[in-house]
Amino acid sequence: MEHKVLVVDDEKPICEALEKAFSKAGYRVFCAEDAEQGWEVIEKENIHVMFLDLNLPGISGAELCRKVRRSRPMDIIYAVTGYTSLFELADCREAGFDDYFTKPVELKALWKAAADAFEKLHRWR
Ligand SMILES: [Mg+2]
Repeated sequence: MEHKVLVVDDEKPICEALEKAFSKAGYRVFCAEDAEQGWEVIEKENIHVMFLDLNLPGISGAELCRKVRRSRPMDIIYAVTGYTSLFELADCREAGFDDYFTKPVELKALWKAAADAFEKLHRWR
């Protein structure tokens, strides 16, 4: 399996930073700035590991997560966001995210998350 990762974030500097970090770790990285574009990339590139900003213009990251979960239940979906509230965390779990990271993101934590995701996907095949 090719190790592809998708980052969906409307903040360009964050997309670029994550793209750089994941590329450095050997992943093939795709970026999208909103949910619609993200969904297109997921289907076109058949991506199984993704990092979604919750706060996106238009369709939210949680909505995109629900959509992915419905048709691609095995995918690993991580939330990345700037603020946390108990409500938001509960909403994340309900939407089907596998885990949650707060900004500013710690690159080591993201690398570990990506490595864990591919390990899990491999195990579940
Ligand atoms: Mg945002």
